[in-house]
Amino acid sequence: MYKILMILSSTLLALTIGHSESTQTISERDASGGTPAKQIMALPDDPATTTADRELMSYAYALAERAVEHGNHPFSALLVKDGEIIFEFENAVYSLQDVTQHAETGLISQATRQFDRATLAASTLYASTEPCIMCCGAIRWAGIRKVVYGTTSSKLTEVIRQIYPAAAKNPLPESPLAIREIFQRTEPGVQVYGPLMEAEGIAIHAKSWGEDPVLRSILGNQ
Ligand SMILES: [Zn+2]
Repeated sequence: MYKILMILSSTLLALTIGHSESTQTISERDASGGTPAKQIMALPDDPATTTADRELMSYAYALAERAVEHGNHPFSALLVKDGEIIFEFENAVYSLQDVTQHAETGLISQATRQFDRATLAASTLYASTEPCIMCCGAIRWAGIRKVVYGTTSSKLTEVIRQIYPAAAKNPLPESPLAIREIFQRTEPGVQVYGPLMEAEGIAIHAKSWGEDPVLRSILGNQ
């Protein structure tokens, strides 16, 4: 979600400096509606992930799709201890009109009231998409020591750039700040695993971001 904010701000800049230069039209995209015409290649799974990780990520992706059904962005987070999901949360930014209600921050806000520090330290956070910088901060302060993410945040950026031609012109870096970079600088560190089943995550994002009301209103070309 961090990058979405970056996209929004940088897209506004792009609009200011020359949105009219955008020549790609919706007719150049897949006729099925909103699906990017060009295939975005998924990265291979992190070889350190397990079958159990895959099962949990599959559930996380399904939860991310439910977030869309509830009018929100397709993100979800699970808190897992000893192989059991002890808490879950789906993105609720639009439904709660609260930009801090990312899947991970929403989960941590509630889970830290329910579980003690030892439980959190022994748990793994599963995120359907690589957590943003805000969520990394919350993960760090909650004392969670392990994260498994599904889809790399830079792939989400690729999806949005394909759906919205104006976004493709923005000055986003090709390799935005990655969760591993962030947690390399924290003490204690947080173990990071991912990507995992990224093709599924890309498909979910490609299906839903074309309908995003904020991006549509700003970019105005859907
Ligand atoms: Zn976030």
